Amino acid sequence: MTTRVPLYIDGEFVQSKSQQWIDVTNPATQEVIAQAPCATQDEMAAAVASAKKAFLTWKETPVSERARVMMRYQALLKEHHDEIAEILASETGKTFDDAKGDVWRGIEVVEHAANIPSLLMGETVENVARGIDTYSYTQPLGVCAGITPFNFPAMIPLWMFPLAIACGNTFILKPSEQDPLTPTRLVELFEQAGAPKGVLQVIHGAKEQVDFILDEPAVKAISFVGSVPVGQYIYRRGTENMKRVQAFAGAKNHCVIMPDANKSQVISNLVGASVGAAGQRCMAISVAVFVGAAKEWIPEVAAELKKVRPGAWDNKDAAYGPLISPQAKQRVESMIAQGQAEGATLMVDGRDCQVEGFPNGNWVGPTMFSDVTTDMEIYKNEIFGPVLCTTTTDTLEEAIELVNANPYGNGTSLFTASGAAARKYQHEIEVGQVGINIPIPVPLPFFSFTGWKGSFFGDLHAYGKQAVRFYSETKTITARWFESDIADASGPNMTIHLK
Ligand code: NAD
Repeated sequence: MTTRVPLYIDGEFVQSKSQQWIDVTNPATQEVIAQAPCATQDEMAAAVASAKKAFLTWKETPVSERARVMMRYQALLKEHHDEIAEILASETGKTFDDAKGDVWRGIEVVEHAANIPSLLMGETVENVARGIDTYSYTQPLGVCAGITPFNFPAMIPLWMFPLAIACGNTFILKPSEQDPLTPTRLVELFEQAGAPKGVLQVIHGAKEQVDFILDEPAVKAISFVGSVPVGQYIYRRGTENMKRVQAFAGAKNHCVIMPDANKSQVISNLVGASVGAAGQRCMAISVAVFVGAAKEWIPEVAAELKKVRPGAWDNKDAAYGPLISPQAKQRVESMIAQGQAEGATLMVDGRDCQVEGFPNGNWVGPTMFSDVTTDMEIYKNEIFGPVLCTTTTDTLEEAIELVNANPYGNGTSLFTASGAAARKYQHEIEVGQVGINIPIPVPLPFFSFTGWKGSFFGDLHAYGKQAVRFYSETKTITARWFESDIADASGPNMTIHLK
């Protein structure tokens, strides 16, 4: 019988009573490997009630005890790293190395969450007025929630619940319905790490379950990662309901290549960053902008891309896996056809890709266009497949203008040997995460994930100090103690009792 993914409510893994179940498939074979429920209203209400109750004791739990849960969790995740990656590969199709990377980036956030006592430190100023001091505390919000996408089923849930919970909140997670098995395993290990009952709840489902979270008054803050239209919807409806919302959305990331760059580095980095993970990364390079004479390298990039082959997760020679679903494959292939119709030159065509032994996989081979212009749909929209668009400019200034005119602002990179060009680019570019000779500049968790413009709706970003501020309130206290109230030291009962 197919595995039915449980909900996690009030510290118990429970089978949903739902009549609606969503198939979870292996994208390399279409085999149904599990079914995820669409949680019922009663089940979601029970999750909220438990999260509210657990908050009352969890917020009073000493911060060092909360940190120790994260330390034990980090150790367990490391111990089970390969096993989690195998589950992840089975439902996403990612290669084993890529799946391990997905888990590892999450482990790094848990490490960061273990440092919570220092992150929660407030500020103090003595003598803001004569005899008066002001100091601040960082206090949790209450029940927070997270809604996650399919493409990083370990890393992105781990961006959210460990830090929110370390801050003293309780958390309701609604993972992607396309790969719920990985988050389930993450939650089992969280329980094993000693997280008390009710601190974390998991409800599965799709739009109806997200709408429940958006409208539930007890939910104080929502973290979302996913596509642009859903991110905009969640930001609007969540803030309309007076909640704090951070929504990380889609992207179009440009790599600008100067003629003085290291050519072999450029070519190998472009190949990996554009088609790695089948292009299903929000920080994938989807546009390469060749400046001046660098355009002569375009045919060599195409030649390298042609050598890259997708394959099954356990095939060591596979560069990347299948797309997540037949619908995603169909969408990417129709965008390739659209690019051709719009007049871009299709230098590498990944349609009709076959992988031996896996005739039903959602394969799309590496694909590359040249002569792409900014009015084309393939330039304007996130393709989210292994497709690289290339274009050219005469100068760095023109390249900066092109990137800045794009509505997205998640990531960008510049390849150059010139410090002056790098300084100009990093200063003038209107994108939140910039790589200099680094193609996918995702900051480690002691910084924050700082997408800009149409790639992010909200104010405070994921992980790092910004996430701690997102998941907490600052309380500022101004205090005056009157010297005249100090009791006479020679009087009785002045012993200090320490417990
Ligand atoms: P998606 O928007 O389809 O789904 C994300 C989540 O929203 C899922 O949990 C899903 O159940 C829910 N959802 C889907 N439709 C909904 C609706 N109409 N109403 C309410 N909830 C809904 O995204 P996806 O396809 O799972 O993920 C891929 C997208 O995520 C890409 O656009 C990618 O760029 C983006 N992404 C962004 C970042 C970032 O940090 N900026 C990181 C990873 C992925």
